[in-house]
Amino acid sequence: MAKYIFVTGGVTSSLGKGIIAASLAKLLQARGLRVTIQKFDPYINVDPGTLNPYEHGECFVTEDGAETDLDLGHYERFLNIFTSQANNVTTGRIYQTVINKEREGAYLGKTVQVVPHITDEIKRRMQLLGQSGEFDIVITEIGGTVGDIESLPFVEAVRQLQWELPEEDSVVVHLTLIPYLKAAKELKTKPTQHSVRMLSQEGVHPDIIVCRTERTLSPELRRKIALFCNVKPEAVIEAADAPTIYEVPVLMMREGLDLICLKKMNITGYKEPELSKWKEFLDKLKYPKGKVNIGLIGKYIELQDAYKSILESFIHAGAMNECKVEIVNVHSEFITEDNVSEKLTGLDGLLVAPGFGHRGVEGKIVAVKYARENKLPFFGICLGMQMAVIEFGRNVLGLKDAHSTEMDPDTKEPVIDLMEEQKKVTAKGGTMRLGSYPCTLQEGSLAMQIYGTPQISERHRHRWEFNNAYLEQYQKAGMVASGKNPGTGLVEIIELPGHPFFIGVQYHPELKSTVENPQPIFVHFVKAAKAYADKKLEVKNPLLQSEMI
Ligand code: GLN
Repeated sequence: MAKYIFVTGGVTSSLGKGIIAASLAKLLQARGLRVTIQKFDPYINVDPGTLNPYEHGECFVTEDGAETDLDLGHYERFLNIFTSQANNVTTGRIYQTVINKEREGAYLGKTVQVVPHITDEIKRRMQLLGQSGEFDIVITEIGGTVGDIESLPFVEAVRQLQWELPEEDSVVVHLTLIPYLKAAKELKTKPTQHSVRMLSQEGVHPDIIVCRTERTLSPELRRKIALFCNVKPEAVIEAADAPTIYEVPVLMMREGLDLICLKKMNITGYKEPELSKWKEFLDKLKYPKGKVNIGLIGKYIELQDAYKSILESFIHAGAMNECKVEIVNVHSEFITEDNVSEKLTGLDGLLVAPGFGHRGVEGKIVAVKYARENKLPFFGICLGMQMAVIEFGRNVLGLKDAHSTEMDPDTKEPVIDLMEEQKKVTAKGGTMRLGSYPCTLQEGSLAMQIYGTPQISERHRHRWEFNNAYLEQYQKAGMVASGKNPGTGLVEIIELPGHPFFIGVQYHPELKSTVENPQPIFVHFVKAAKAYADKKLEVKNPLLQSEMI
């Protein structure tokens, strides 16, 4: 049977609970244990799929098509494993299950209450992965901050589970903030004391306190926190601000976070952490040999969390190329034919981001045209791919009304159209084409060169698709559909063979990039951007130029 580590957060949100949980999981995995992480979110949406990115950042899609919290992306990127619907549960989903059961009459006339019915359902779900036999340790991150009304049932469920399980089968890690007061020139422990007290009042006592801090914690301060929060001094862990999230597992290893957990859980026979691949990646990340500027053309750029997986994929791909990828955010809403060359100046590659709705699409189309005409490496993801199809339709095929029926339902040239199976769908939650689907690549294509295998599988989240009625016309004019769903013929990849690097994908490759397995399109795109940058350098070098002449 699995053992459980619960991670709670205190004082404030945004302390990086997901990263601490993922780092701890990484260390335990590196010691040979089978680990997974799950997140329990206190909000009432059944899943984050219906949330605007401005509300909650990116919606991460798992292999099985679950729309989940972006922390699951960190779990997958750190652990190099797949998660699933079972790894992300919200209050909404808990209540939905309980209410459905009530309607079926499963409670036999009893009054249905938060305790025990909601807490029982939370506990059942907390143990689902643990009971599968696949894992030695299940880490459960409780979303929100201790003291929030909405997280109470989750903390109560942790209390009950700890009472039910043998003493050595659970650990509670509490993440908190030790703020530095400039005026007093001091780190302050009071907020932490209060948050631990609040957690204790709710019946859960932390075994380990992880302190986010800008400054080093002195031994005296660690002892003070330990004494007032009633934990062993070695269980006060410093989580200093790190230059990159990928450094956190190493920092946590130095602090002994994994060892303290193992000791509390009475686990023996583990090995020294095997982190050679991880450290190799960190070295490449920290000491890049070159730099490229990639333009991220999107409409949610004010909130970087909206493109989390894309940004992380660039970090993985950059390290693989030993090259720093500088992301230049360009708001698609403000790109026009007149300012495009000025807005995109200095870029070595262009990524047109996924998205929904009409805001900013014309700017995206203009940006694609610029990349196509100027032979600037181009990578379009989902909506970005659809924009490349529209641009080609309008400017190469002369279909001036080419559009997606998402933005213009009555367009005369619906080159991007709603998928047949979507036409009867009215409900918004969980109804897109979601999760992993196979795709067959065309021999000799760029896609085939990138993946190195004709059969791939990638994750999806969309309702619209390339309208195959136009396929012949597009292929004749030079746009190749180099990847298709083998069963339905749905166009998954488009590319332009005459261009140094021009690829658009209907799926979301960013969802499968991990530290140990960087996503190949990102890796090749960064490589193409590097080649573009090098060529620019050559042209700028007068000596080289005269030699060339
Ligand atoms: N809005 C487009 C669709 O639903 C693209 C979706 C996306 O970019 N994820 O097909």
